[in-house]
Amino acid sequence: MIPRILLLAVITALPALVLGSVNYTCLPTQNCWPTSSEWQTFNRSIGGKLRVTHPRAEPCYDDVSSTACKDVATGYLASKSRASQYGAMEYLNFEVCGSDQCLLNSLDPLTGIHGTCSLGRLSAYYVEAHYADDVSKTLAFVQQHQIRLSIKNTGHDSFGRSVTANSLALWTYNMKDLGYHKAFTPSGCKTHYQDIGEIGAGISAEEAYTFFETLGFHVTIGAIGSVGIAGGFGQGGGHGPLGPSYGLMVDQAVEFEVITADGQLRLINECNDPDLFWAMRGGGGGTYAVLTRYKFQLHPAVPINVYSFEAGIFGASLIHDFTKSMVHRQVVTALAKNQTTWSNNHVAGYNFIYPDRIISLQILPSNDTEILKSLTADWNNFLSSHPGLRSAQKAYLTFDKFSDYIAFTRRPSIANNGIVGVGLAEAGRLMPRELFSTEAGIENLVDAFLQGMQISSTLGTGLGSGTGQIYATGPSNHIDNTKTGVNPAWRGSLWEIVFGGVWLKTDAQEKRDSIQHAAGEAIKPMKDLTPGGGCYMNEGDWMEQDWQQTFFGDNYAQLLEVKRKYDPTGLFNCWKCVGFNGEDDPFYSCYGQSQNSPIPSEPLRVPELVQQIEL
Ligand SMILES: Cc1cc2nc3c(=O)[nH]c(=O)nc-3n(C[C@H](O)[C@H](O)[C@H](O)COP(=O)(O)OP(=O)(O)OC[C@H]3O[C@@H](n4cnc5c(N)ncnc54)[C@H](O)[C@@H]3O)c2cc1C
Repeated sequence: MIPRILLLAVITALPALVLGSVNYTCLPTQNCWPTSSEWQTFNRSIGGKLRVTHPRAEPCYDDVSSTACKDVATGYLASKSRASQYGAMEYLNFEVCGSDQCLLNSLDPLTGIHGTCSLGRLSAYYVEAHYADDVSKTLAFVQQHQIRLSIKNTGHDSFGRSVTANSLALWTYNMKDLGYHKAFTPSGCKTHYQDIGEIGAGISAEEAYTFFETLGFHVTIGAIGSVGIAGGFGQGGGHGPLGPSYGLMVDQAVEFEVITADGQLRLINECNDPDLFWAMRGGGGGTYAVLTRYKFQLHPAVPINVYSFEAGIFGASLIHDFTKSMVHRQVVTALAKNQTTWSNNHVAGYNFIYPDRIISLQILPSNDTEILKSLTADWNNFLSSHPGLRSAQKAYLTFDKFSDYIAFTRRPSIANNGIVGVGLAEAGRLMPRELFSTEAGIENLVDAFLQGMQISSTLGTGLGSGTGQIYATGPSNHIDNTKTGVNPAWRGSLWEIVFGGVWLKTDAQEKRDSIQHAAGEAIKPMKDLTPGGGCYMNEGDWMEQDWQQTFFGDNYAQLLEVKRKYDPTGLFNCWKCVGFNGEDDPFYSCYGQSQNSPIPSEPLRVPELVQQIEL
């Protein structure tokens, strides 16, 4: 292992040619790095909102018996509390850089704590932005000093795109405005909208549905309350239980307030900078500009009807090959056969197919509580009478309030499918509607899914290996009309299939790598079935090699053109985002896919600055 200081020196000495056109490469050891007094001036200019990063588990590395440490340990897997802190990511992968880390053992947090608590990929300093002005001043500062910028909201990103070692981080989580417009006309446009919601960049799904529910509206959020809906969700896609009814989050957008690389605050919509608006509706967060406000279509609240079924599989322990398991085959086939009708009728689905059990939710927002019962009657009969299933829970439920539906999904059997505070590997694929239209297509689809389960269970050694997730929560009834830059593969798809596995701090790198490899291999049968197809950019394999086509499809070239127009110097850059600098950009060394050894964040504890910031 080359010592870090030497690595920094090597990078420093690299001629511009080697780094190609990569900008914003200033490192703490270089002369371009701001002096303590420049940092202090900058801090004053943003009203003292510069912060020193404290990794989430730091109190435990200081004193494992402290109350602060016990609090961290108790909430280590809690998504909302992780999101509310700059010093944590939802997935541990992205807090680590090489051997630098400050992790706890997720399942037994107070054990095995030794060594130094290091920043890993977290920035040493971050700006806690509250206002657009904080954002523009930060953009000007990083440009002046050629510092790498990262933008973090809740830190849910499964590619770690919201953290970059040795960057200055802009934390948007506290931009918490909420508002409602009975009537709204986007700036410079003639179109009139009714019932438009307006949120600041840091509003979470839970904050949004709670606020708008009291006004009688639904918001197109995803499965989890802690995800930020204006950041990666609202700029990269955003699927959820209302997807088949109203489309993706990006479909609801009517206007964004953004700050572009030139420091300009812009109101973008279908009339002002329409190319940028198009790109930011699906082309991904962290790529085009910093979004400060998001205006979007609300929908009148109606009851949420749910058919919920959970069952164990008889003799599951005897199954050695899922491709030969009749119960799995019959269940997934029945699901696939119903899917077109359900999707056409706005039913959303969450289905978790485990090696030894299944959990299936079919969800329909509607005033008519009978429609879902009639649409799922055959499915209910099939599941209820299947000799290979031991039903554990089965119910038709109606939730008058969206928040009550979300509370229901917090039961462990459902919520555990979105576990955080652990290391995660995942890979996904969008499965086109045509596959569901013939017997042969369905057979191929089911074959591929069961092969995926088999591969995941054979190669994967982590928690969750062998389980396949099937989401029917996309925009199945919403054509794009060239309005959004989202991956076109979304539009024609009925299922998003995801395979993955979980690792813990105690797992050696080899095991983490093998869990990652297993996720990538498990999705291959789905890829083989969908040549030229794609994957949701927020729920894929960060190691994907064909990332442009896979995550952006045929929109990539146009997305790149818009990127170059509004961000010619590459101020905004993230892992496998549009305009990605490439794996060998030293600022991506923590991913372990480049020629460079990992270069973790330098702590940068300049005493007088720390004192000023922490006072
Ligand atoms: C447990 C869990 C459940 C999930 N469920 C769903 C689901 O049901 N449906 C779904 O569609 N997705 C889901 N996701 C994926 C989620 O949409 C993405 O992780 C998304 O990127 C999160 O956005 P964020 O802003 O909250 O996270 P962050 O990690 O903070 O940011 C994500 C990306 O957006 C950028 N960004 C953030 N804010 C801004 C801003 N203001 N301006 C510009 N760029 C910004 C960041 O730089 C980063 O590139 C889930 C993820 C997890 C971990």
